[in-house]
Amino acid sequence: MANFNRITATLTEKKELAPLIHLITFMLNSPIQFEAGQYITLKIPSGNEIFDRPFSIASPPSENNSFQLLVKLIPGGLASTFFENATIGTSIEVSGPDGAFHIKHTDRSIHLVASSTGIAPFRSIIYDLLKTKNFLLPLELTFIVPPQEGMILKEELDMLKKEHANFSFTVIEDTASFFSLLNEYKDKDFYLCGGQHFVQDINSYLAKKSVDAERIHFEKFA
Ligand SMILES: Cc1cc2nc3c(=O)[nH]c(=O)nc-3n(C[C@H](O)[C@H](O)[C@H](O)COP(=O)(O)OP(=O)(O)OC[C@H]3O[C@@H](n4cnc5c(N)ncnc54)[C@H](O)[C@@H]3O)c2cc1C
Repeated sequence: MANFNRITATLTEKKELAPLIHLITFMLNSPIQFEAGQYITLKIPSGNEIFDRPFSIASPPSENNSFQLLVKLIPGGLASTFFENATIGTSIEVSGPDGAFHIKHTDRSIHLVASSTGIAPFRSIIYDLLKTKNFLLPLELTFIVPPQEGMILKEELDMLKKEHANFSFTVIEDTASFFSLLNEYKDKDFYLCGGQHFVQDINSYLAKKSVDAERIHFEKFA
């Protein structure tokens, strides 16, 4: 996979999807290659230094002249302040793509479990599987949206469900609801993405239910 080490990306759209959650589009001068699920690293300048902040690519690899990020703003955070202040035309250096979080087996049913902006790599993965790879096995998404954050991407997910009979999604408010809803563990691969505690909790739960470690894949945001 080609590496687009340190290129300049220019912000072309910033859309507020919910309070503190933005979908941000960057254009690139030359096309990039990445696998759905990977992340890029933003080089955020602060004083005389440059700080790295990784963000999962939320758009599919088929859109290779641009990329989108789904960003949750952390008040006072370095990258968050950059995103808050950035306007159309703001440029930033990025490096990557990096990461081994991508779909390992396309011949197995898939259950994606996201918390908050942990849905970012899954947005890329879902579009890639359904629109590019013609994936026809069951593809399930459980999306944990804490009530204080507000639902995002509902129209898109509804549309994908309407267009693809093998895709389904459930929106819940917390990890405990996931445990009570899940009753089928066998014959599918789990992919988890979100904060560290969320990933740890779900991973240990699945392990207790005897899901083989080889069938559990995750990306932790912190
Ligand atoms: C592989 C990878 C992919 C990622 N992809 C995404 C993504 O797609 N979307 C996204 O929004 N973020 C993503 N993150 C997290 C992102 O890299 C930053 O950590 C996050 O945006 C905060 O950065 P910041 O510079 O604004 O805050 P910082 O300046 O790093 O931190 C400010 C303060 O906020 C705390 N803090 C940091 N992160 C969080 C958090 N999530 N919740 C609460 N407090 C926090 C810190 O401990 C610190 O006290 C990803 C992280 C990894 C490792």
